Amino acid sequence: MEGVLLVDATTVRAWIETTAQVITENKDHLTHLDAAIGDADHGTNLVRGFDAAVAALAEKSPETPGAVLTTVGSTLISKVGGASGPLYGTAFRRAGKALATGDDVSAEQLGAALQAALDGVTGLGAANEGDKTMVDALAPAVRAYQQALAAGAPISDAARSAANAAAVGAEATIPMQALKGRASYLGPRSVGHQDPGATSTALLLAALADTLDGAPA
Ligand code: ADP
Ligand code: MG
Repeated sequence: MEGVLLVDATTVRAWIETTAQVITENKDHLTHLDAAIGDADHGTNLVRGFDAAVAALAEKSPETPGAVLTTVGSTLISKVGGASGPLYGTAFRRAGKALATGDDVSAEQLGAALQAALDGVTGLGAANEGDKTMVDALAPAVRAYQQALAAGAPISDAARSAANAAAVGAEATIPMQALKGRASYLGPRSVGHQDPGATSTALLLAALADTLDGAPA
């Protein structure tokens, strides 16, 4: 099977544009999830953030994949409030930093960027897997990506494995009790609801896999 071998800045930007669309389409769903165990703003927070990220990319036209991700991260930090803004912002900034100044990203480099994003989220938010947060989607996604790569999968297949693992991880938050973030204030009443941040992480990674599927090899 043919697959994309390297990811350039245009493709990373296309991912962010697709993400903005997908987040907009799922705005009410994310807000509804956050209404159950939080303050009903996750959908609006992320729509505002990714719309601003698309606008920042149009204005600044960063030339490398790393610079695209860094721009997105800084925009999310400045435009999205709450917990998810700094967490996603840090994730994108760390991923961007991991890619440094190269023009093209290899499958291995994308794996390192995903790991850096996860390390950024756990470094800032101190959540472990099982705490009912975005980490429950991102951590298994990073593992699945690395496993697929080790098995010889092309970058787009590895990204699809990551997206699938994130979706499974997001669904697995339903029976969990939240131990971090606003949902943790509910204690045992947080059980029985899917975590909004894990859900948006799964959407972001599905958008990445879709973008890489559509990218020219
Ligand atoms: P807020 O909770 O401030 O209203 P959002 O509603 O935008 O912010 O985002 C909520 C999501 O943030 C949660 O569903 C969870 O996935 C994530 N989150 C909250 N705290 C943490 C944390 N400490 N570590 C990782 N993710 C967290
Ligand atoms: Mg909220």
